[in-house]
Amino acid sequence: MEHNGFIRTGAAQDFPDFIAKCLNIRQKMFTNNNVAAEDVEFFGGGRGWPPIGAAWMHPPPNAARGEPHGTPQQEGIENAMQIHQQTLAREVSCAGLGVHSGKSVQLTVKPAPVNHGIQFIRSDLPGRPRIPAHFNQVVDTSLATVIGAEGAIVSTIEHLMAAFAGLGIDNALVEIDAYEVPIMDGSAAPFTRMLRSGGTAAQPGPKCYFIIKEPISIEASGKSVTIYPAAAYRITCTIDFQHPLIQRQTYALDVTPDGFEKEISAARTFGFLHEVEYMKRYGLARGGSLDNAVVISEEGVINESGLRYPDEFVRHKVLDCLGDFSLLGMSILGHIVTHRSGHAFNHAFLKAFFRQKQSWETLTVNTSEDLSPLRENSTLRRSSL
Ligand SMILES: [Zn+2]
Repeated sequence: MEHNGFIRTGAAQDFPDFIAKCLNIRQKMFTNNNVAAEDVEFFGGGRGWPPIGAAWMHPPPNAARGEPHGTPQQEGIENAMQIHQQTLAREVSCAGLGVHSGKSVQLTVKPAPVNHGIQFIRSDLPGRPRIPAHFNQVVDTSLATVIGAEGAIVSTIEHLMAAFAGLGIDNALVEIDAYEVPIMDGSAAPFTRMLRSGGTAAQPGPKCYFIIKEPISIEASGKSVTIYPAAAYRITCTIDFQHPLIQRQTYALDVTPDGFEKEISAARTFGFLHEVEYMKRYGLARGGSLDNAVVISEEGVINESGLRYPDEFVRHKVLDCLGDFSLLGMSILGHIVTHRSGHAFNHAFLKAFFRQKQSWETLTVNTSEDLSPLRENSTLRRSSL
């Protein structure tokens, strides 16, 4: 095992085998407080970190793009790095409308054991098909993020997934009696309140993180997604719309439960009036209304109550990103920077991420002492570990 209790891997295998094996080893570590020689080999043996410099750690400032450039904060590290996995303390539920079907949906979230991850069960179908919330289960990203398995799908999972990721909930079972997660008010605030009401419970299993060793990037048609090495989890999104109300907006979030709840969770999905009319003409967005989306016309926001934040649009992009990237199945220590991205492009990035295995490792935190070096040195240098 590596010094200071950290285990790292450079020997990544194909997803999901890699994740399954990683979780299996974590389970062994917890139950036996030990790992076998072949497991150490699997995690990369005695491999160390590459040389780390300031440029390696942070994305280059890009003033032309107007992107903020910052250093992960000390408290960000402590908040971002949970030691133990978490689940809900008790079962919670909610009901609402599917945005496309217009039908009512009942959703229940139950506590789940260590290394379970987030999984959905379609309780309305024979055999109660189970669908893990992993990016390799994604079957469609055209209007929302849709996952599928065993001939069943669950659609529009991204806002609920953002609430799990934002609050640091690793393990939960979501039972749903329809194919769409209810849209609620178009944001993640109702899910966040619901999950908060259930309380969180720390579990006797260590957290596992993706550590980014070098930037990974995709770019096409004026869109880009890049993840940079960082000692905390940060998301920076930029949107650019040819509409006087939106234009160019950038928002950066250090992902912590309080920051997510206060700054991001209430940002609603948005659409242009002509798009909404088009979708309704083709039988989509049947449940869509001004109660669950910000709708923009040529003149401005149609919703009488206006916006919840002046830059609600870009904050919602951060929310969507958090949900989409949670489909990696493990937490991230890295800085994600997106430019004009959406669900489909985020998903393309997740596939590229797993192709570029030399650019990341995983890290398992076993005890609170393991975090001390990071608290003392926010640059995550090899020498400090
Ligand atoms: Zn959304």
